[in-house]
Amino acid sequence: MSKLWVSEIFYSVQGEGIHLGKPAIFLRLSGCNLRCVWCDTKYALDMKSGKCMSLNEVLSEIQRYPAKHIVVTGGEPLLQQLALIPLLKELKKLNFFIELETNGSIEPVSNLVKLVDQFNVSPKLSNAGLPKPVLAKSIYHVLASKCKAYFKFVVISPSDLLEIDDYVTKYYLPRNKVILMPQAMTSEEHNKRLLFIIEHAKNRGYRVTPRLQIIVYGGGIRGV
Ligand code: SF4
Repeated sequence: MSKLWVSEIFYSVQGEGIHLGKPAIFLRLSGCNLRCVWCDTKYALDMKSGKCMSLNEVLSEIQRYPAKHIVVTGGEPLLQQLALIPLLKELKKLNFFIELETNGSIEPVSNLVKLVDQFNVSPKLSNAGLPKPVLAKSIYHVLASKCKAYFKFVVISPSDLLEIDDYVTKYYLPRNKVILMPQAMTSEEHNKRLLFIIEHAKNRGYRVTPRLQIIVYGGGIRGV
């Protein structure tokens, strides 16, 4: 019987991306293979910081809420991808729309790709302060070709935008699948960064997303 390390399960609205504003259940798995300097879910980075739950426990917690839209996030959920497959199968039987967020460093297995409706891949730029880029290069080709992925880039300064342009060229990312969003811990910071992000997106044909949870609650808050 597969078990999952779970940081939190909560009901809210999707705060960013193309499903912005939709009521959704969030399943945050604990454990991440990266350590981005600006990470706003530091409480979920160590796998053992979460609770080890059975598939039935996770499923019954999810079914307490009225939505049929789930966002599997982390941490890095693909660290537990084999254990996730039985849960996602059950959720598909229940007609859930499944979004899965990943940092793009781990390639998803094909049995998982089949079950996920939308991948939100968030490749890390140099602003994440990682010792070296960590990428599963094929993730771009696999997911982009199946039209299942959006590529969300976290922007801090205008120089990040040039790095994003390089990524888009290097991995042949479709521009309408590229989403720019501000890194921020406060609404002031969020809005200030959004101003220059919008201008760049207009010139390149990228999308932009605000981050409702930052605007409303601020960064680093659990359960929102
Ligand atoms: S990949 Fe995501 S969860 Fe992991 S450290 Fe970076 S921002 Fe945090």
